[in-house]
Amino acid sequence: MAKFNAEKTHCKRGHELSGDNIRITSQGSRQCIACVSVVYKAEYYANPEAAHTKKNEWQCQNNYGFSLADRDALLVEQNNTCPIVAEPD
Ligand SMILES: [Zn+2]
Repeated sequence: MAKFNAEKTHCKRGHELSGDNIRITSQGSRQCIACVSVVYKAEYYANPEAAHTKKNEWQCQNNYGFSLADRDALLVEQNNTCPIVAEPD
């Protein structure tokens, strides 16, 4: 499966999988940036708030490797100081 995906030259929507149109996910697979933005825009216009939450979730997962739920649990554990940019009082 992974091998097959790695050999693909175009995504399922027909965007070319090369150059600036590829991002590598934390799982190591390639993702079509054009598709991500298409999906994100469609979701955003359908429900901006949910899309915003989802974007935060994605960024949290992608940048820091944990979900918003994990982050919220950490925040409670750490008396609502952010574990990422925690500053001394
Ligand atoms: Zn695509």
